[in-house]
Amino acid sequence: MKLISSAIIVFLLAGFAAAQRNFDQPSPYSAQLTAELKLLRDGALKSDYAWDQLAHLTNNIGPRPAGSLQANFAAQYVADEMRKLGFEVKLEKVVVPHWVRGEETGALVQFPGMAPGTTQKIALTALGGSVATPGQGATAEVVVVNNFDELNALSPDKVTGKIVLFNARFDKQLAATGHGGPAYGQAVIYRAIGASAAAKQGAIAALVRSVGGADYRLPHTGGMFYQPDVPKIPAAAVSAEDADLIAYLARQGSVRMRLVLTPQQLADVDSYNVVADLKGSELPDQVVIVSGHLDSWDLGTGAIDDGAGVAVAMQAAHLVKELGLHPRRTIRVIAWMNEEFGNSGGRAYAAAHKEEAGKHFAAIESDLGAGHPLGIHMAAPAANMPLLQPVAQILQASGAGLLQTSEDAETDIGPMCAMGVPCFGPIQDDRFYFNYHHTAADTLDKVVPRELQENAAVMAVLAYALASLPKDLERPTAKPARAF
Ligand SMILES: [Zn+2]
Repeated sequence: MKLISSAIIVFLLAGFAAAQRNFDQPSPYSAQLTAELKLLRDGALKSDYAWDQLAHLTNNIGPRPAGSLQANFAAQYVADEMRKLGFEVKLEKVVVPHWVRGEETGALVQFPGMAPGTTQKIALTALGGSVATPGQGATAEVVVVNNFDELNALSPDKVTGKIVLFNARFDKQLAATGHGGPAYGQAVIYRAIGASAAAKQGAIAALVRSVGGADYRLPHTGGMFYQPDVPKIPAAAVSAEDADLIAYLARQGSVRMRLVLTPQQLADVDSYNVVADLKGSELPDQVVIVSGHLDSWDLGTGAIDDGAGVAVAMQAAHLVKELGLHPRRTIRVIAWMNEEFGNSGGRAYAAAHKEEAGKHFAAIESDLGAGHPLGIHMAAPAANMPLLQPVAQILQASGAGLLQTSEDAETDIGPMCAMGVPCFGPIQDDRFYFNYHHTAADTLDKVVPRELQENAAVMAVLAYALASLPKDLERPTAKPARAF
């Protein structure tokens, strides 16, 4: 998932004002459009289609890390399913990195108070992109720091030749109050760039406390990136419990650890974004994207991250066809490839469709699991609120009536948003998402069928409304050109 900006502004007053206007003025939507949106909502809340697709992606196909056979097989599967619905389907090439995990073990081999001749196992997992430990593994003393300032305050002789553990805590209270995204955002920096920071000080490996909330001794993987001018050292996430254990023992004296990681960075692989169009009846050149990302991490089966997003995007398409509706603009379902490790799919699409950015009316992505949706967030001018208020009113029936602006969009549609495309996504209950995110426990059972239906209702109603709006949206200011 991409962090949604912590600076989400709630436009309650705007909402009240717009609601008030709705009593005074006729809806900007025709009676027919309003009726169609209600049909889509009710259809999504009854249908098992999204669940069946999610079950197939997770249970039948399984983990879908970028570059894997399963990821490409999943792309073919989604393409076939969209063809079955009568969509015009293209597989747009995306070159993706191919990193494979290998063996991963950790053990404390020397620590204060130990029973002679014993070790303590540490639950850990390599971070995506990590290099391997040399030969038989690396054995060294562990230095525990809570943040970059503490690391940088240490003299180099305290770090050289050692393993650095970044023990930055995921703020569980923040997550428990519905701010999982900001809690993730605070801690994930150590996972992303901690290894290079430690290597600069002479460390031979880096560990990061898992960025997530559950206390089931689960390590959470995720992407990490090396600075080009710094030696590459192996990097792994340890479970929160093991980070506490190491920190406890290190306060008493020297702690030495043996770390074995054998991941490999293989040659890049040709993979695909699945791009499936239902052509608009009046304005076929104008496109509304509805999307999720097809790749997952390898430890679980990618149910919440982000099979659910793909499944609800597919459901939006399925319902529009099933109900025989004809959107004015083209509805384009995209199953993105490789969000997790460099946003290859989002960047490749933006590069390939740069000239048509102005024809992209809007883009929607769901990538924060499948928790109960509370409404819609929009990375576009607040002046669009009144035009979207009828959508919020229709979704209020399933508790998804909030309409908010946010500073930025989900990862895959981010590059299009930066080119001035209004971007949207569901606002979801993320209190539990980070318990399972990027772990072996990201499996189908973590998705509540009713909540998946509620998310599908948001996607279907929003996609069809955007594709049918009687007038244009105000667009966000394009950001300076980026190298895609
Ligand atoms: Zn994701």
